[in-house]
Amino acid sequence: MSPRPARLVLLGHPVDHSLSPRIQNAALRGAGIPLTYEALDVAPAELERSLLALRESGAAGNVTIPHKERVVAICETLTPEAERAAAVNTFWVDDGRLVGHNTDIGGVSAAIGALLGAPPANARIALLGAGGAAAAVLCAIEGWPGCRAVLHARTASRAEALCGRFAGVCELAGSAEAAVRGAALVVNATPIGLHDESMPVELDALESTSAVLDLVYRPAETTFVRAARSRGLRAADGLAMLIEQGALAFARWFGVEPDRRAMWSSVGREFGG
Ligand code: NAP
Repeated sequence: MSPRPARLVLLGHPVDHSLSPRIQNAALRGAGIPLTYEALDVAPAELERSLLALRESGAAGNVTIPHKERVVAICETLTPEAERAAAVNTFWVDDGRLVGHNTDIGGVSAAIGALLGAPPANARIALLGAGGAAAAVLCAIEGWPGCRAVLHARTASRAEALCGRFAGVCELAGSAEAAVRGAALVVNATPIGLHDESMPVELDALESTSAVLDLVYRPAETTFVRAARSRGLRAADGLAMLIEQGALAFARWFGVEPDRRAMWSSVGREFGG
């Protein structure tokens, strides 16, 4: 077990929108740990220098947009999850070495299990987007028996590259509508709907039995989630993933499970907490 972190931080650019400080500070209070989780706005040019300084001070923390992929190369040790996702969202120092891990995989896995009532098996899963969040979904799918992803993203070269890394479980679709055809679960891993009422795919294209997981979250839910529910589909936004990836990071840093109820309460009714 690595020593208890001397400091807890979130590195991103920008970070002022993040709910993670609220969530992690609630968990710290619940566990009686006298630390404050701080959001640090770190520009890309400052990332390596900042992380190495944090390593010297024995800090631990999270990494968010746009740094998750670059931190892979800065860490001295990667867990198998970070290696497979090629993205780090959680780090700590162990024996003087910077360790990079990925809890987005466990986070999205838990969110999908909660939405469906159990981890999927033998299911076709439509995946919209080809960035770091989509990679975490593909890592989760690799662990589920008989499941396959059908991926669509607007930049074909990015979609091909990601699908190629997960060729055993992933195939490409020519459009979002083609991807969702026959899918038991549709996952939005694009930012569509974050700032407006747009949706990543026409709702009419979805099967009447599909479930919808929108990794985007915003107050009063996303249009995609609301529209899917009004059609009678099971649907959830990205809040459960956010909280679970934070809970898994907390457990890595402190060796104890956080109070997930306190973490949910911290985001308030405004976010459905
Ligand atoms: P990313 O690496 O930037 O990838 C975003 C993907 O969405 C790319 O394929 C991108 O295509 C595509 N995209 C972006 N804007 C689009 C648009 N207007 N129309 C169609 N496609 C578009 O981002 P990420 O880290 O994977 O995160 C994606 C989203 O997931 C985030 O915005 C966030 O809302 C959500 N997320 C949630 C959690 C959570 O805990 N709930 C965690 C991580 C991410 P291009 O390559 O063409 O740009």
